[in-house]
Amino acid sequence: MAEHWKGAPVAQALTERLAAQADQLKARGIIPTLAIVRVGERPEDLSYERGALKRCEKAGIQVKQFVLPKESSHGDLLEVIHQINADRAIHGCLLFRPLPPHMDEEAICAALDPAKDVDGITAGSLAAVFTGRGAGYPPCTAQACLEILDHYGCDLTGKRAVVVGRSLVVGKPLAMLLLGCNATVTLCHTRTADLPAECRRAEVLIAAAGVANMIGRDHLAPGQLVLDVGINVDQEGNLVGDVDFSAADEMAAAVTPVPGGVGAVTTSVLAAHVLQAAEQSQS
Ligand code: NDP
Repeated sequence: MAEHWKGAPVAQALTERLAAQADQLKARGIIPTLAIVRVGERPEDLSYERGALKRCEKAGIQVKQFVLPKESSHGDLLEVIHQINADRAIHGCLLFRPLPPHMDEEAICAALDPAKDVDGITAGSLAAVFTGRGAGYPPCTAQACLEILDHYGCDLTGKRAVVVGRSLVVGKPLAMLLLGCNATVTLCHTRTADLPAECRRAEVLIAAAGVANMIGRDHLAPGQLVLDVGINVDQEGNLVGDVDFSAADEMAAAVTPVPGGVGAVTTSVLAAHVLQAAEQSQS
């Protein structure tokens, strides 16, 4: 049976470090502050927001919420973003997406100051992830994968890492982060010729495709470390990942569960970015 790499202990260890860092900032008169911007009342946004509020409270971060009705105009939202950019007391901004279709999401994301982009949604942040230079932060989910590997003692140097999924939110930035830790990285997608064979070659396999249970016995090899980023609802209405958990449990050395794995670490990474942004606002 594989080790179950749960997210909660990772999140807790991170949060304890962050609370100490927040105390130090407060002693210097800086109150680390996150703006949460939400348009409408989508249940998944509300659920993530509750988690973020709880995590920020534990980490000693103040939150300012900006809630707009879903029929607000593009201009209304842009004004909020400009207000956040201009407010020196706000260090980071979490903007829930997708935005309603009448808003130009690309333009809204581009308007956010990359120095406050703690969730990695601006082109500036992605450029920073790819070049290692400039202002911005990696998307929280991608970084959460690295936090889990680090917490459970995986040294990525020289390891063959395979990521299934090449989105800008998870797959691509994650590949860059893994590369930064000296892994040898393969990015797979829908046109990959022999996905099971590519996956079997991995020492660290990370699934971020958004297809319920698609990584099965064919894709797995003994001794692998398997991280499951996927959040899907299966035919019975259960929340499941991209990895067939029972197959991974049988074959892998370690596997993250869904729920309770990668997803449980993302708000701690968000909090870490807010504190980093608060530190950097002073420099
Ligand atoms: P996208 O739909 O944007 O991207 C999915 C990627 O997976 C694409 O690159 C696609 O390839 C690839 N893919 C899809 N199906 C297959 C397949 N059958 N074989 C190989 N590759 C495939 O999804 P996201 O990156 O936004 O999210 C991925 C998953 O992660 C989702 O389940 C999402 O809910 C979850 N997620 C979880 C978070 C968390 O905190 N745990 C946060 C963000 C996302 P191609 O490019 O060729 O189309």
